[in-house]
Amino acid sequence: MPAKSPAGFVDGERLWARHMALAEIGARDDGGVDRAALSEVESEARAQLIAWAREIGLKPFTDRMANLFLRLEGRDPALPMVLAGSHIDSQPTGGKFDGAFGVLAALEAVQAIVARGEQPRRGIEVVAWTNEEGSRFAPGMPGSEVFTGRRTLEDAYASRDQSGILQGDAVRDVLARDVDVPLRGFGLELAAYVEPHIEQGPLLEAAGVPIGIVSGIQGTRRYRVRVKGQAAHAGTASRAERRDALMAAVRMIAAIDRAALAPDDIKLTVGLFQVTPNAPSVVPAEVLFSIDLRHPENDVVDDMDRKIRGIVEVERGPCDVEIKQIAHAPSLTFAGEIRSMIAAAAAAEGIPAMEIYSAAGHDSRQLHYVCPTGMIFIPCRGGISHNPAEWAEPQHVVAGARILSNVIWQLAA
Ligand SMILES: [Zn+2]
Repeated sequence: MPAKSPAGFVDGERLWARHMALAEIGARDDGGVDRAALSEVESEARAQLIAWAREIGLKPFTDRMANLFLRLEGRDPALPMVLAGSHIDSQPTGGKFDGAFGVLAALEAVQAIVARGEQPRRGIEVVAWTNEEGSRFAPGMPGSEVFTGRRTLEDAYASRDQSGILQGDAVRDVLARDVDVPLRGFGLELAAYVEPHIEQGPLLEAAGVPIGIVSGIQGTRRYRVRVKGQAAHAGTASRAERRDALMAAVRMIAAIDRAALAPDDIKLTVGLFQVTPNAPSVVPAEVLFSIDLRHPENDVVDDMDRKIRGIVEVERGPCDVEIKQIAHAPSLTFAGEIRSMIAAAAAAEGIPAMEIYSAAGHDSRQLHYVCPTGMIFIPCRGGISHNPAEWAEPQHVVAGARILSNVIWQLAA
């Protein structure tokens, strides 16, 4: 390990002030943040980041997905770079820290390395990935997906927001608003990627531990289930002739809920439920519902997948059922070397840390396919996120940036 960590050069007041300043761009009246991906508001936040980066001597770059990179040149520019960051788009009812913390902590970590005075061997770049949230253009994370070759540019460009605007056109608008930001290609060679993020769950806070060394991201499967029956008169249709889609759907959901009781850390959610025709005196003809299934172990998710498919067949009765899996992201484990470095950095800086699983998805999923990848979590109050009440304590924000600066310095030195 290099002699002196740059962590001592992390300026907590500056880092906190930048969080508050960034939160002003797209600020909601209730203290939250509404900064839609690829919007004019996001361009403003982007310009602010670029201005801060230029003050430190970093060079901005972008690409055809409008991912933003802020580069500290290394002594050997030809070496694969070290990348750290997150995203600056938010949910419509977002908070000040989701995404923003990762980008600002990375900027602060690089500034600390600059202040330390020795140029690292590898280039280090701060990144803000485009559209992590997926709330304006679904699905999310097209920036990191296209960068890592997991999705084509054409496919990402074809997503439309609710007003019919193509994601490709929104990207072009962002690039047009940039001032002197050169375009680069995708798929640059990376030495490592480290993403700091608020936990978005309650575990670190409950444990009283300021740093989470993220071991992996839990797997998910998402489904749409369509149950088809037949509309009939509520007063005249006999039990024998009824094909009641709602009763069948309710039996399915109850049985799936029971099946998901063990192990007790399965996360099962039916968040969407639509009845047709949804009239009080008509036997329901059709029901559409969603299933969102998550667990850290692929075996558990796959086992539930089999159970769900069995249950809908058993419980459909006289109705027809169609189950469509619309997303499948297997569980993943982050690189052991990065996790060890985060643990060593936390020990060296005297900051308590614990291993933790990520219950939410992040751009790190895409990056982990192409380079050693890790995540650093800090607590957020009550585990609340995607909510204006989202809050992280200043000392935790600083602790995350200190550990990140130590880790990326080692990766780049
Ligand atoms: Zn996020």
